[in-house]
Amino acid sequence: MTVVLTKMNCPKCGADMNFHAEKIVFGLDGGDDGDVRNGRLLEFHACPNCGAPASRDTVTQSVRDSPH
Ligand SMILES: [Zn+2]
Repeated sequence: MTVVLTKMNCPKCGADMNFHAEKIVFGLDGGDDGDVRNGRLLEFHACPNCGAPASRDTVTQSVRDSPH
């Protein structure tokens, strides 16, 4: 099993943030028809220290060993 998650540091206090969720967000590139190809997968993180939320583009590293 290979899970490559790059730690994200809190923009407020610098603590290592906890990965919370990922979500496809549409419309950021001018497309608003719901086509998944116009969406971007974002990671959402929460800071365990100060509670600040943050998001970023998902850092997808080549993880080839699919569990299926
Ligand atoms: Zn913080």
